[in-house]
Amino acid sequence: MNAMNYAFLCAAPPPPNGLKTAVIGSGPAGLSAAGWLACAGYEVHVYDKLPKAGGLLVFGIPGFRVPARRIDDAAQKLTNDYGVRFHFCTKICTQDKVCESGDEFVQEMVSLSELLHEFAAVLICTGSWRSRKLNIPGENLPGVYTSLEFLFPLRACKLAQTRIAAPQVEGKNVVVIGAGLSAVDVVQSSLRLGARRITMLYRRTMDEAPAGRMEIKLLRQRGVHWVERATPLRIHGGEQVQKLVYSQANDPEKKEMDVDFVISAIGEVPTNPFPRELRIEDVGQEDSKWLQMTKFDGVFVAGDVLTGPSKIGRAILSGLKAAESLDGWIKAHRLDHARESTAGQEESHG
Ligand SMILES: Cc1cc2nc3c(=O)[nH]c(=O)nc-3n(C[C@H](O)[C@H](O)[C@H](O)COP(=O)(O)OP(=O)(O)OC[C@H]3O[C@@H](n4cnc5c(N)ncnc54)[C@H](O)[C@@H]3O)c2cc1C
Repeated sequence: MNAMNYAFLCAAPPPPNGLKTAVIGSGPAGLSAAGWLACAGYEVHVYDKLPKAGGLLVFGIPGFRVPARRIDDAAQKLTNDYGVRFHFCTKICTQDKVCESGDEFVQEMVSLSELLHEFAAVLICTGSWRSRKLNIPGENLPGVYTSLEFLFPLRACKLAQTRIAAPQVEGKNVVVIGAGLSAVDVVQSSLRLGARRITMLYRRTMDEAPAGRMEIKLLRQRGVHWVERATPLRIHGGEQVQKLVYSQANDPEKKEMDVDFVISAIGEVPTNPFPRELRIEDVGQEDSKWLQMTKFDGVFVAGDVLTGPSKIGRAILSGLKAAESLDGWIKAHRLDHARESTAGQEESHG
């Protein structure tokens, strides 16, 4: 199987331009940006808190859909052929609290100011890893997961040495709330793991499912139950979750379902590593000359952390655009700098 090629703009790297750039996050946005920058002659350093490159492609989407090997080979190619340096298990942050999926692997913390000190510019590509909550009673019971809390351990156990335990759904009743790509991946993984009964519960109709009607129909053909126009109200249980109470449109009666696992796949929100310092929502709102640059000079942003959960192709495009913008900013910045120092010299001579 061929490696993906993220440095598709050049057959071989050009002579080094003597400048260093940092990319935070090695998902599709970070990898495509790293490839672009390497092809522009930069020394590129990519930081990721996980032990391998790929982001959600490797640690979210199940391996039977995107083989991790292809991404590994792509990262290897960037290193061997283009000199890109990966720093894995390294989290870039300003807060010392370790509390997100993937933080189990962190061995080193580096601050944004350290990066800004060392690099000409920094690109943030940290994705959308924080899951939305259901906000209903019982959500914190054992057996209730978000989609990434469920999928990440399955991938992490396979790909790296870890003590993270994979959820044991074999022979169990699983209910998945949501009908997007994450929900479909949770259902498919549960099918493979031998869950006894799987039910998808969605607030709208099959035609409105973000994963598409076809995808849901295929799952139904494999025995997955579908409950539409349904709203989860409460989860009951003790040591383990036992029942889900929900309502359905146009039916005043509340309904109950026996469950061993409840997995909410209702979307993720951007994982901004600098929430106190940087409002990523503001990027692009102000009249910045530089596309995807934050309020900090030389700090750019790309991929799902900027747009919210999207698609692989959009993340790649966003990474490429940010890399080009960052390159433009560095060049203009250096020109301004050179002009200022020439003017200073002329003044002192005059
Ligand atoms: C379950 C699931 C299934 C999906 N299926 C599809 C699909 O079929 N087709 C499709 O097109 N899209 C799919 N998507 C969406 C797609 O995976 C994302 O849009 C894409 O991966 C976003 O790329 P990214 O580079 O912005 O971020 P990510 O892929 O999320 O990568 C972000 C990287 O940043 C790292 N990171 C985060 N914070 C820090 C930090 N502080 N310091 C260092 N590193 C950090 C993370 O470890 C991660 O490696 C799916 C998403 C999910 C969750």
